[in-house]
Amino acid sequence: MKRAVYPGSFDPMTYGHLDIINRAAEIFDVLIVSVLNNNQKTPLFSVEERVKILKEATKHLPNVQVDSFSGLLTNYAAVNDLHVAVRGLRAITDFEYELQLAQTNRMLSGGKLDTVFLTTSLEYAYLSSSSVKEIASFGGDISKAVPDFVGEMMFEKYRIGQLDRQTR
Ligand code: ADP
Repeated sequence: MKRAVYPGSFDPMTYGHLDIINRAAEIFDVLIVSVLNNNQKTPLFSVEERVKILKEATKHLPNVQVDSFSGLLTNYAAVNDLHVAVRGLRAITDFEYELQLAQTNRMLSGGKLDTVFLTTSLEYAYLSSSSVKEIASFGGDISKAVPDFVGEMMFEKYRIGQLDRQTR
């Protein structure tokens, strides 16, 4: 059984993440999407909410599980006997950070955790959770970025009513 973990903040999950999940689920027998509980960032959604969103959005994929973790990915991977991490690459700007992260994880795990990169589908290359949050906070159209139920949850967080929204 080839198992892999796709770790990330997913605050919130976008269609870009979902594209990586769909494709990784074709490659691996089991894909565990795991939400990082990072207390250095102030998230829009709680870990529980982010897990719920991911579960709802991936319910059509029987080999995808959703979990969360805090602390080092290498510890989480070791405890769960996971040896492959999946990450997405959008542009060259992601590359330097992702390369450093992958090499650090490989070193910290004593060579036991490797990272596999999937390049973003072009239609999602511009998408990031932070830009979607910024657009939503002004009532902008995020229908191409996140599923409708996630959009609703975001507008609720920002207290943006129907009348304050641009056409969805
Ligand atoms: P993190 O804080 O760990 O970077 P993110 O939720 O921002 O968490 O991203 C998780 C992973 O998904 C990262 O590898 C990131 O590059 C990738 N990713 C984010 N958005 C996209 C996208 N639109 N297309 C492909 N990969 C993406």
